Amino acid sequence: MNNLKKEVIEYAKKLNSSNLSPLRSGNISIRADQNGKKGFLITPSGIKYDQLNEENIVFLELDESLNNDKISKNDLNPSSEWRFHQDIYIKKKDAYAIVHAHSPHATAVSAHGKNIPAFHYMIALAGGDDIKCSEYATFGTKELSENMLTALEKRKACLMSNHGQVAFGKNLEEAFELAQEVENICHQYINTLKIGKPKILSFEEMNKILEKTKSYKKN
Ligand code: 13P
Ligand code: ZN
Repeated sequence: MNNLKKEVIEYAKKLNSSNLSPLRSGNISIRADQNGKKGFLITPSGIKYDQLNEENIVFLELDESLNNDKISKNDLNPSSEWRFHQDIYIKKKDAYAIVHAHSPHATAVSAHGKNIPAFHYMIALAGGDDIKCSEYATFGTKELSENMLTALEKRKACLMSNHGQVAFGKNLEEAFELAQEVENICHQYINTLKIGKPKILSFEEMNKILEKTKSYKKN
């Protein structure tokens, strides 16, 4: 358990050092079991990442009846976004770690509330032929979580309207890498829009790419 907490802190600090999310914005979680109960470890709410220590990392059980009243009654201080982390773990069996970031370019694109089309084949990394943008809802709400799950259908990452992005993976390294790729794609998308309307890859071509990425070897 302590090693997992250390890993969460390591990646939370990387949110700052890699410029993916400044100060205390964004949040990180990883699946974990405690006393035989299935759940996840998540960063606390409102603490700057460079001040984090292991006691600040919160374990939450995967429990659909959990709500903010129960959390404050038990004196817990999980990220205000614990709900979408929990809902992603419940709905997505292949999600073992989640990274939410207010990365600069993803956040800029998210403010337009539009999906990113296949202007580059790397869009396939998120799982399909576009990267969806979830509809806007207030941070920390069930509505935000529901909107995100819609945008995450058959996807491992999405933008969150007027907010940022989320990515998940089979471990923190993979989830973090995907969040970095989404940020990079958004940067490229902003650049390409500056010189006109980009050519979009066809559905057939993207299906070919999606097949090819299944066997792509990463080291
Ligand atoms: P927390 O500090 O509560 O995790 O909030 C940061 C954030 O990004 C909210 O969307
Ligand atoms: Zn946020």
